[in-house]
Amino acid sequence: MSRLDLFIDRMVSQRACLDFAIAQTAAMPGPVFELGLGNGRTYHHMREKIEGRDIYVFERAIASHPDSTPAAEFALLGDVMETLPAALERFGPTASLIHADLGGHNRAKNDAFARRVSPLIEPLLAEGGLMVSSDRMYFEGLQELPLPEGAVEGRCFIYRK
Ligand code: SAM
Repeated sequence: MSRLDLFIDRMVSQRACLDFAIAQTAAMPGPVFELGLGNGRTYHHMREKIEGRDIYVFERAIASHPDSTPAAEFALLGDVMETLPAALERFGPTASLIHADLGGHNRAKNDAFARRVSPLIEPLLAEGGLMVSSDRMYFEGLQELPLPEGAVEGRCFIYRK
């Protein structure tokens, strides 16, 4: 499989999983968290599709497309290892949807990071909330869901509290 194939699979899977998770959580009032803004494509997609919920972005440093840049009050800047615990103090277990796309090109590094960050993400979700990730996560109490139609196994993961 070429890198182009892998990239396309990841993008198609992100969209399918996000659309599924947005629809499943549409009746929940809690905020949505985007972990890793990058260029802002998935943030832009969520902003287009989500109504009536605040979307907070967690990012080290904003470098997104101008159309995909959150207002300052919705940008939680810094390393997620610090901003996620701060968010738990601020929001409690209220998030209706959390999307994480924090990884780079090194799969072993991504996996090691997923193990470290999973316990910081898990307590932020409200009961019934969903977590969508590009990497396999390591949660104690969340249930992994089957992927929706259009998503490719191993390219995206969905968990429910
Ligand atoms: N989903 C985005 C999009 O559609 O454009 C791409 C996200 S990009 C792959 C990953 C982003 O996560 C990068 O912008 C990087 O700065 C951010 N990131 C990675 N590790 C982080 C950390 N520990 N704390 C905060 N941000 C981090």
